[in-house]
Amino acid sequence: MHDVLNVPEIFGSDVFNEATMKQRLPEHIYRGWKNCIASGVQLPLEVADGIAEGMKVWATEKGATHFTHWFQPMTGITAEKHDSFISPTGDGRVIMEFSGKELVRGEPDASSFPSGGLRATFEARGYTAWDPTACAFVKDGSLYIPTCFFSYTGESLDKKTPLLRSMDEVSREAVRILRLFGDFQTKRVIASVGAEQEYFLLPKDLYAQREDLRLTGRTLFGAQPPKGQELDDHYFGTIRTRVSEFMRDLDEQLWRLGILSKTKHNEGAPCQHELAPIYTNANTACDDNQIIMATMKKCAAKHNLVCLLHEKPFAGVNGSGKHNNWSLATDSGKNLFSPGKTPSQNAQFLVFLAAFLAGVDEYQDFLRCTVATASNDHRLGANEAPPAIVSIFLGSELNAVIKSIIDGANYIEPEKSMLRIGVDVLPAIPKDTTDRNRTSPLAFTGNKFEFRMLGSSQSIAGPNIALNTIMAEELGKFADVLEKADDFDTALQDLICKALKDHSRIIFDGNGYSEEWKKEAVSRGLSNLPSTAEALPTYISQKNIDLVTRRGIFTENEFRARYAIHLDSYNKIVNIEARTMVDMALHQILPAALHYSRSLCDAVNAKKGLGASCQAESQLIGDLSSHTDALYSAITRLKEDMTKVPKEARAASQYYHSVIVPDMENLRGEADILEALTDKAYWPYPTYSDLLFY
Ligand code: ADP
Ligand code: MG
Repeated sequence: MHDVLNVPEIFGSDVFNEATMKQRLPEHIYRGWKNCIASGVQLPLEVADGIAEGMKVWATEKGATHFTHWFQPMTGITAEKHDSFISPTGDGRVIMEFSGKELVRGEPDASSFPSGGLRATFEARGYTAWDPTACAFVKDGSLYIPTCFFSYTGESLDKKTPLLRSMDEVSREAVRILRLFGDFQTKRVIASVGAEQEYFLLPKDLYAQREDLRLTGRTLFGAQPPKGQELDDHYFGTIRTRVSEFMRDLDEQLWRLGILSKTKHNEGAPCQHELAPIYTNANTACDDNQIIMATMKKCAAKHNLVCLLHEKPFAGVNGSGKHNNWSLATDSGKNLFSPGKTPSQNAQFLVFLAAFLAGVDEYQDFLRCTVATASNDHRLGANEAPPAIVSIFLGSELNAVIKSIIDGANYIEPEKSMLRIGVDVLPAIPKDTTDRNRTSPLAFTGNKFEFRMLGSSQSIAGPNIALNTIMAEELGKFADVLEKADDFDTALQDLICKALKDHSRIIFDGNGYSEEWKKEAVSRGLSNLPSTAEALPTYISQKNIDLVTRRGIFTENEFRARYAIHLDSYNKIVNIEARTMVDMALHQILPAALHYSRSLCDAVNAKKGLGASCQAESQLIGDLSSHTDALYSAITRLKEDMTKVPKEARAASQYYHSVIVPDMENLRGEADILEALTDKAYWPYPTYSDLLFY
């Protein structure tokens, strides 16, 4: 039996949240912080000092001895450097000190983080600055302060800064639209995100025996086990005790950190699970998702498990993704993607919907690029995740509405010639339509969009920056037109009708996995960028550069730096995987097959003396020999091709994609045949059966 967990009591107990601030800080300090959040002004030093003192006292009571500025460099993971609170008194003793200056600004020696060329090494210093909209928390004996990370010249070196900028921008433009509909109350519109996280859990001892898992997070070899996921007996199945204990522990830790962990269940593949939190603002959701991923790994270790966040740990069974549920809401909690009850609310909803369709259609490539990674290449378009073609699923009800607007056809009553926006009531749109399409990369699910192309290990910042930015852009363009209109209703009708007409090609409700869709997408003029190497160059198209600079999300330099880093990271990952394969093939797989073959030869010799039949052995020896030869030439080819990788990053990525990846597949194919031929006693590492059905 477990101790009873008082969830409301422990929830957020390790977070210096608003309630704690109110309780712990002097009134004028608390007010100063509130004011700074509301107006976006800089925190006065006196207020920062007051907060720092309160934080320190609180954190040390919770056992913290250190503090760290916690930031999200462009690598997509988080970084931290811990300083203790100690300060010498001069007589051999110390006191615990933490100043406002230390709270708001830090200087990690950050020269080793990739900067994509933004920072020469002579000015390698990076700076961190507290993001006062995100709460500090205590974890593992340190006070964590969420921060932005930027260079000496003020360029953003992280994922948080552009996310915050994009949230401001979409808020500003959305508020303009709301004003046109007579809403003068809303001060801010909030991009809301709920990210569902998939992951695998494996026994630690088995994991440790596989070099590929340890070095690359996925299996680079492995013959298919006799049983895969075809019985669907894992999905939503009973959670085994070891795993449920891990999950309980994980939930407790997340709740203490104020993370709204809500749903947990088994996923499609054996050993695969999912955690979904309740949605929150995009900035917090992004921080929380990073904490969720890190806590999963730590917590798994405690339970003698390993948590794999890789997009494709095993061939032949589902990989892991992340569903990024996104919407916009007013500061009073009204969801702007909720179809309303009155004609005016509906018209407003249609403006937001039309802007979304327009943005996704115009910036398909941008969205595609935000999920382009070496590991996600194994999923997108591989009949388990959405295709690499971006499209939007709306459901039959909304499609009918859109059609009636576009066609000017009647939708509700025969005598009306068309759906008049702002006059007619929309039909009820069910929140959970039964035909929810799992093959769609971007699905409308009643009052939010679910972006399903994300890889399980990636930061959700990039995709949400893109969603916020394209939405800001289209809403801004709409507001420009509508603010100038003499007759608002007519202008609105025309605007929505035109946007829907111009961008309806992005709507697709059919089977995204089918070959026909690929053909149809081409005829619709949609882009299909099936691999990272093909997608990434479109990231820095002039159109995207114009968008992000016009909207103030990135400077051109900052944007190009991201491109360089994504490209570099793709190249490095494939390179590491290829080297790991060569290493395992030469030092583990080949010797295993040769030893086994040798033992068979010994057996044949021994048997021959007795005049017994050696047919099975002889045939097996023959098979082993031809496949060890093939394996050896596959190794040689990969090794040789690895020496010819072009220097320039973009050419290298194309080379990795078109030469090295196929070489790796070829090598794997031979190794997996050998695995199937070889006595298990000789095989150097746990097989898929061992790993997936432990
Ligand atoms: P699913 O649709 O995947 O079956 P849910 O609808 O319960 O599951 O929600 C999935 C995720 O979407 C959860 O993290 C949930 O909090 C989040 N979500 C729900 N409403 C919104 C919203 N308006 N904006 C953003 N995320 C939301
Ligand atoms: Mg979902």
